[in-house]
Amino acid sequence: MDGKPKQRLQVDDWPRIIQQWLYPPTCLLCDAPGTQGWDLCAGCKNDLPYARHACPRCASPLPAAAAPDSTCGRCQKKPPRFDAVIALCHYQEPIRHLLHAFKFQHRHACARLLGDLLAERLATLTEKPQLIIPVPLHPQRYSERGFNQALELGRPLSRQLHIPLGTHYCRRIRATIPQTELNIELRRRNLRGAFQVTEKPPADHVALLDDIVTTGATAGELTRVLKRAGVARVDVWCCAKA
Ligand SMILES: [Zn+2]
Ligand SMILES: [Zn+2]
Repeated sequence: MDGKPKQRLQVDDWPRIIQQWLYPPTCLLCDAPGTQGWDLCAGCKNDLPYARHACPRCASPLPAAAAPDSTCGRCQKKPPRFDAVIALCHYQEPIRHLLHAFKFQHRHACARLLGDLLAERLATLTEKPQLIIPVPLHPQRYSERGFNQALELGRPLSRQLHIPLGTHYCRRIRATIPQTELNIELRRRNLRGAFQVTEKPPADHVALLDDIVTTGATAGELTRVLKRAGVARVDVWCCAKA
């Protein structure tokens, strides 16, 4: 990570240029001036709990003694349905605060910042997916919240990585009990039949995008229906792995 977001003078960057002129970048965590056009100062950016030493299959933290990029014991025993998880950070402060603010307060600035941070993390990927699919919300949940956080994250990410967003290939057809109230086995059962592929995505390799991945049950169920529809490889991208 070189810490320098690319400043491309493209037509789609003009809203950002105008916005930076009207509202100079300010750190969303400590109110200091932002660095390099980010709403984050250099100190806070440096101190984020980046998930650097993590299992490539599930993004869980690896023991300090484990070789870099080694698969964790749990994934060796029972590999998840998805092929890889890339998490920007571990689910700790202050990323927890940013994600909370993203969901419940000034979502645009947070979505942009989190999208930029993810784009920076993913810019060096050698095998890029052909499509980014934000995890869909059930329409009822969408109307309660007014936005899909995965889609809001996907917009800046798609723009910067030059990978299209696929928003209409899957939908959530069943409203589920909030996953936080359930254990791992119940989470899996709760999600069975929750998603439907409405049209086969025109891609062999897709990335599912969500703000937080907890047990991976949601991503696993979505992977199951995508693979059944013919997608060969499904990666999962998220801001934080809990
Ligand atoms: Zn700061
Ligand atoms: Zn793992």
